[in-house]
Amino acid sequence: MDIAKVIVDVPVRSTDRPFDYSIPESLKLWIEVGSRVAVPFGHRTVQGFVVSLESGETVVNPGLKAIQEVLDLLPPLSPELVELADWMSKRYACRRISALQAMLPTALKGKAERLISLGDVEEDTAFSDDELFPMFADTGNEERLITEFIGRNGEVSMKQLTRAFPEAAETVKFMLRRGVLVESQSIKDKMGKKKLKAVDLAIGITAAREALNKFPKKSARQKEVLSFLIEREATLPMALKEVLSALQVTASTVKGLEEKGFIEISEIEVYRDPYQGRDFKPTTPLPLTAEQEVVYTRISRTLEEQLHEVFLLHGVTGSGKTEIYLQCIKRCLDQGRQAVVLVPEIALTPQMVERFKGRFGSGVAVMHSRLSVGERYDEWRKIREGKATVAVGARSAVFAPFSNLGLIIMDEEHETSYKQEENPKYHARDAAIRRAEQCGAAVILGSATPSLESYHAARAQSDIHFSPVLLEMPTRALGNELPKVNVVDMREELKEGNRSMFSRKLHSALAERLERGEQTVLLLNRRGFSTFVMCRSCGYVAGCPECDISLTYHSRSDNLRCHYCGHAEPAPKLCPECGSEHIRFFGTGTQRVEEELGKLFPGIRVIRMDVDTTTEKGSHEKLLNQFRDKKADVLLGTQMVAKGLDFPDVTLVGVITADSALNLPDFRAAEKTFQLLTQVAGRAGRHQLPGEVVVQSYTPEHYSIIHASGHDYLSFVREELKHRRGLHYPPYCRLVLVTLSHEQLPLLLRMAENYAMNLQGKARNLRWYGSLDKLTTDVLDLLGPVASPIPRLKGRYRFQCMIKWRGTIDVIGLVRQVAEELEDSVRDTGLQISIDVDPQMLM
Ligand code: ADP
Ligand code: ZN
Ligand code: ZN
Repeated sequence: MDIAKVIVDVPVRSTDRPFDYSIPESLKLWIEVGSRVAVPFGHRTVQGFVVSLESGETVVNPGLKAIQEVLDLLPPLSPELVELADWMSKRYACRRISALQAMLPTALKGKAERLISLGDVEEDTAFSDDELFPMFADTGNEERLITEFIGRNGEVSMKQLTRAFPEAAETVKFMLRRGVLVESQSIKDKMGKKKLKAVDLAIGITAAREALNKFPKKSARQKEVLSFLIEREATLPMALKEVLSALQVTASTVKGLEEKGFIEISEIEVYRDPYQGRDFKPTTPLPLTAEQEVVYTRISRTLEEQLHEVFLLHGVTGSGKTEIYLQCIKRCLDQGRQAVVLVPEIALTPQMVERFKGRFGSGVAVMHSRLSVGERYDEWRKIREGKATVAVGARSAVFAPFSNLGLIIMDEEHETSYKQEENPKYHARDAAIRRAEQCGAAVILGSATPSLESYHAARAQSDIHFSPVLLEMPTRALGNELPKVNVVDMREELKEGNRSMFSRKLHSALAERLERGEQTVLLLNRRGFSTFVMCRSCGYVAGCPECDISLTYHSRSDNLRCHYCGHAEPAPKLCPECGSEHIRFFGTGTQRVEEELGKLFPGIRVIRMDVDTTTEKGSHEKLLNQFRDKKADVLLGTQMVAKGLDFPDVTLVGVITADSALNLPDFRAAEKTFQLLTQVAGRAGRHQLPGEVVVQSYTPEHYSIIHASGHDYLSFVREELKHRRGLHYPPYCRLVLVTLSHEQLPLLLRMAENYAMNLQGKARNLRWYGSLDKLTTDVLDLLGPVASPIPRLKGRYRFQCMIKWRGTIDVIGLVRQVAEELEDSVRDTGLQISIDVDPQMLM
């Protein structure tokens, strides 16, 4: 007998291993590694994934359950992705099912559904029970209606049945008990394929032309339709909707034609195309600059030999990295292989998509969270069914189901959004490298400000994870200079009596731009301080009742919201503590900057881009188009305006508060500040007009601000690495963050201490435990337990342990093992343990 090993979708740890199922003869042809199946598990039917197959002589337990159903004709996962999921579960201490599911579009997260059909019990015997069950004697009529209803439909869901017979629960139960009805379960996808009514000619084109000539006069409308279809013969079948709106005829006119046998109307499957009806200006490869040529030649050598190799492309903003990406993809497609382009979610702007669609047309599938579930599913299907050869998308596009992947590009590789914060807590960079290793593909990590991890790995060539080949492009492709950066000390401004949020320098630079009709981008760095509500009389700050964190003011709905748990309440008019009216919204919101701009420069046209103005689908794009069409003087926004935008008339970039994130308790604070400043400065003067940048800061002496203003990545890295080495932070060690949470504080404290002690004890026995100051290579140190930076979240208290380690020891395995032992020993007390390997967010 053949056996399939299946990972089932049951969210408990004890099921985090493959289970054996036999494969019924009828399904043998359809089941492969990567197939999605419905299998019995306990009393339920659940979804699962086939991770391996065993055939032949194995003696099998005769009680082995069989696979019920194969859910897709084409397995949604390839053996390569199944293997990648296995790797992820070990690398990130997550369950295999959660890794497998992260690879699929939401639409395929099937749910079990109960179905009811007719049993093979004879009706007569079924009804003869009346005497035995007198209380059901009068249900005969109802039973007949139900039997008829199900007979007509074949199989109905429990939901359909209760909708049709809302009062008949007892009767249905009774029928099920006697076997008149039988129940089964099946897995239903959240989203079906989209179907469309389409029209086609039912006869040959010559016959159709002849018919047209002999058409009776009284059916002029039908004749019109037929003639229309003949004209468009090449593009048939076409959507019925389209025919109706083009000719302004009714559906019955078209139906009439069908009845006469000239045409046929059928349902066809279509892809929901999020970019439908949009024209992308086709572009051709640019002749490369000398600098680009060197880089391109090096990468194409690897592509030519179809080798696995990782490149770190360090190129200043405007150096033409995207052109390199495009030409490398072309090379890869010419070999019959496919390519994935990863971009941070925030940079997935229409401008970016346009550049890829412009070069590769409809062969490009786009995957990001702003698409609807259905659209995402269809873009994914285009890849799975071989209709797309390039996938452009955020983090999860690294799992694009290509069969012959040749290249993975990761633009802005330093972005923290490449790390997923929920389970599985994977980093797309590591997943990309691992996947490329498996299939002999090249990886290009591109950035103007590479992460210290990647840069150090390229320089030191000693990192155990990956050692990329460093490629550098220090000048801009169009030959223009990087913009001049002026740093303004805001403390001096205040001393000299300027209380405005605009320094005199930024004010005059803005005025100049308005006069010359040039454009300005203004960035408000909101990381680190949000718009919270504080009473100026008593100091009261509105906080979330469930989480120890302040609420954020939302002007649209005039309410306060918690960004962690979603709690919302109306904004207070009076202080709830002291009754004072002086309760105000603090923090510099984009809205306040907009108001101030209006006061300083009457008539100024501002486009504001932040979470408030971009919630609606397509709004992001609309705002950017308005700005490009010069309908505004200023584009004002949060981080969103820093990434990937390319407008020729922007000659001034202003940063309102450069250092608001510097004081966050995060060892990457300086790195993130440097990256953001460099990115946003790169938006200025990208074309003919020279650019200027004004950075306002309260700590202009900080090295991240000094080096960002000098466009000096190397000096920044040198200084930052010194700090990291001294304090034992990545890239000089690795981190694992273990967070324990529980509703009861004393209990949690005991368990957190227990966890730390067990881990320490085990590490000591293995001779791993020690200080990172020592020169040993294999070493682990543990900090904590301490209260998490957000000590309470959604009503649960939180404690954390930070593990710092280096070497080749299996620390992740040990951390996980100790967590599982603790969970087992305290069953059912509601303890949750989260393990974050290589955490990005330390807040
Ligand atoms: P990056 O991605 O490194 O920030 P881009 O790829 O956006 O840089 O390139 C910056 C500008 O230079 C773009 O307007 C692009 O069209 C132009 N450019 C890039 N390469 C070339 C080239 N070889 N010849 C002419 N223009 C180029
Ligand atoms: Zn008060
Ligand atoms: Zn909350």
